[in-house]
Amino acid sequence: MTKVGFLSDIHGNIAALQAVLSKLDDEACDLVICLGDLVGYGPNPTECVQAIRAREIPTVLGNHDQYVTMLLNPRMEKLREDVRISVEWTQSQLPMDDLKWLAQLPLRLDAEDFSVVHGAFGPKPWVYCASEKALAHNFAHQDVALGFCGHSHVPIIALDRGEAPPALDYLHTMPLPTAPKVMINIGSVGQPRDRDPRASCVVYELESRHVALFRVPYDIEDTQARIRAAGLPEAFATRLAEGR
Ligand code: ZN
Repeated sequence: MTKVGFLSDIHGNIAALQAVLSKLDDEACDLVICLGDLVGYGPNPTECVQAIRAREIPTVLGNHDQYVTMLLNPRMEKLREDVRISVEWTQSQLPMDDLKWLAQLPLRLDAEDFSVVHGAFGPKPWVYCASEKALAHNFAHQDVALGFCGHSHVPIIALDRGEAPPALDYLHTMPLPTAPKVMINIGSVGQPRDRDPRASCVVYELESRHVALFRVPYDIEDTQARIRAAGLPEAFATRLAEGR
């Protein structure tokens, strides 16, 4: 049985990342893939980048990864104030070698049985695969039967239904449903937004086509203390306990 582990949206939360990596180790994954947003919001961006690099985990670029590598880009002006603060702080923390590594990440990775992106397939990579409209846009550009994404921090499964709007449901542990195209949003390691504060990750078994969603507890108070010690906005800390 070939097991692939998926994790995404770590957002500088090293305690959550370590909890998820040890869960995926327990599950004996043959391969682990990271769907981007290693940094932003959280207090330990360097530790998170270096943990992923040390394990040589294949990784796609997330929007926050892109923001921190776009030094002095005018697009920065359009970022929300709290995101801009987090981007500038993260830039001040990351060694140049880690910034360079983030800057060379691809927008998608293709395996034999599936492809992965951070946000969505198509020319607008930062669309949130979280609504019928966004999923319809995604499926119009998704050129593979099975895709995995992150970005919205809410685990869902979406089925392409051709002319009819896509079917969306909360992701749970299940056999992969039959549909022309399927997109699985794996949720977030370091900042879940579905009112469940536990870290999220997914394991997919290639031969049985079985999807498993795991929610992994970690020391939220420790991460909150690190956020406050770093002088980052208080909201970054409080939202972790609320899972939103
Ligand atoms: Zn994210």
